[in-house]
Amino acid sequence: MKPETVALLSTHYYDRNAGAVAPPIYLSTTFERDADGTFKHGYLYARNANPNRDALERSLTALEGGFASMAYASGQAATLNLFLALAPGDHVIIPTDAYYGTPTLLEELMHPWGLTYSRVDMTDLDQVRAAMHENTRVIWVETPSNPLLRIVDIQAIADIAHEGGAICVCDNTWASPVLQRPLLLGCDVVMHATTKYLGGHSDVLGGVLVFKEDGPLYQRVRRLQSVGGAVPSPFECWLVLRGIKTLTARVRMQTETAAKVADFLATHPAVEVVHYPGLPNHPGHEIAKKQMSGFGAMLSIQVRGGAEEAMRVAAKVQIFTRATSLGGVESLIEHRASVEGANSLTPPNLLRLSIGLEHADDLIFDLKRALE
Ligand SMILES: *Cc1c(COP(=O)(O)O)cnc(C)c1O
Repeated sequence: MKPETVALLSTHYYDRNAGAVAPPIYLSTTFERDADGTFKHGYLYARNANPNRDALERSLTALEGGFASMAYASGQAATLNLFLALAPGDHVIIPTDAYYGTPTLLEELMHPWGLTYSRVDMTDLDQVRAAMHENTRVIWVETPSNPLLRIVDIQAIADIAHEGGAICVCDNTWASPVLQRPLLLGCDVVMHATTKYLGGHSDVLGGVLVFKEDGPLYQRVRRLQSVGGAVPSPFECWLVLRGIKTLTARVRMQTETAAKVADFLATHPAVEVVHYPGLPNHPGHEIAKKQMSGFGAMLSIQVRGGAEEAMRVAAKVQIFTRATSLGGVESLIEHRASVEGANSLTPPNLLRLSIGLEHADDLIFDLKRALE
């Protein structure tokens, strides 16, 4: 089935009590035990499992074509739980261009705990092979990446991981399962910040890990989810599930608009470079064509001049909102380096754009005026 159908079927709810078409929210933290000591509905305590989280996890599993999912209170909590399932002394490889929170989490939380890591440019497969050690357990892929929209060959990296006895995990947040399904390309685990496209309305934080198959790592992470307790509330699960119903329509329209915006920016004299994998001259264009069904709705530009010129452009937009984050229905623009702070690797003249559901003509007009 196509993502359009999966998104609807996997979120549809049939309620035997009231015939409600939209799912109820089960706020109960605890569930009744039968006289014989069993739990006939399968629920015991809401941190372990609850109906709204189960429904969300089932939907995400279906969307990514996996075996099972674990939902978390944020994308960062999902990432943290995956790394906590490893052992002190293990080694992981992450990309140079990655969501800022991933290296920050490794450096500040996991490194003191005993995990070691390397950062490599994953568009160069030789660098990835060279970074593999005997104790490497995970290669973490992010494609398209934040904020430079680097494209990494998922299948090739998964092969390198498996040859070295490691697993391949893909942060699929920017593509969404509508455009890219890493488990079908050889990855073992997919991570999402459901905060972004899956929730889709900038009103809920969440994360997920989707596993391709059962096994000791899956069992360990499942245990960490309930013991660690970084779980989303029933209402948050309900909001993400509600977002998924319109996921495909949003992502397809946003992608169409992003392509038009990228085309406009690519020929603008005030723009030094546009990072968008849909442009034929993007270094990852061919790989993106191979592994994605669309090029996504995120792009970044480097403004001619420097940080000051970039800030000036961001100051002049009227339809775009100046804010961090992405994947919502409203278009956002942000000066990424100043959000990331001191250790940022982001070029100072870079602006990151998250394309929403406004009309392409109006977004282009807004950028044209701001770039003047
Ligand atoms: C936002 C984001 C995260 C982190 O998600 P939070 O919900 O903010 O914790 C991780 N990876 C990518 C690519 C993101 O965009």
